[in-house]
Amino acid sequence: MEKKLNLVLFGPPGAGKGTQSHMLIEKYKLVHLSTGDILRSEIATGTKLGLEAKALIDQGLLVPDTVVIGMIESKLDANTDANGFIFDGFPRTVAQARALDKLLTDRATGITVMLALEVDDEELTKRLLSRGKVSGRSDDQDPAIIENRIKEYNNKTAPLKDYYREQSKLRVINGVGSIDDIFNTLCAAVERSSVSVN
Ligand code: AMP
Repeated sequence: MEKKLNLVLFGPPGAGKGTQSHMLIEKYKLVHLSTGDILRSEIATGTKLGLEAKALIDQGLLVPDTVVIGMIESKLDANTDANGFIFDGFPRTVAQARALDKLLTDRATGITVMLALEVDDEELTKRLLSRGKVSGRSDDQDPAIIENRIKEYNNKTAPLKDYYREQSKLRVINGVGSIDDIFNTLCAAVERSSVSVN
């Protein structure tokens, strides 16, 4: 297996995945793949896919698995020289996780570790509402939409922890604290995991 570093940065909306991803890509020179960012850019350019996704995103619901899996597949193929990837906001369902394993296995690589940031629901809602004031993201501004996003996470996404636990790839990280302390904990987990796979 090639020695690529492929990280899944996992956690509920508002857990700090975006912030920590940016710090991790700098440090480990990885390609950042955020399905949320890709969908927002499709919306901004007004593609058909973007329009369809917008209707779901605006309700706090997940977009179909086939859509996001296809997006990830084309990004993997557009970045074959990468040292590795950070998957941010993907996978979000067990079907997506299975598809990702298959895509990576077909490319002679695999997930190194899944870093799961844990933050309680009350803190998440507080963070998302305050992000909504500056991000302009409509899905960060309405408490009912935020509640749906957290529900989607608890119902469809949180079970992925078991999926990666069964592969001994789950590392649970406390997502409450200073950004730098959380970053250092993430790096320590990455370094322990990459030693054990290489
Ligand atoms: P995010 O920026 O990761 O919070 O994603 C914003 C919204 O995009 C989510 O609430 C979903 O509607 C949609 N989305 C992003 N990634 C995925 C995914 N992997 N599967 C399904 N929907 C997604």
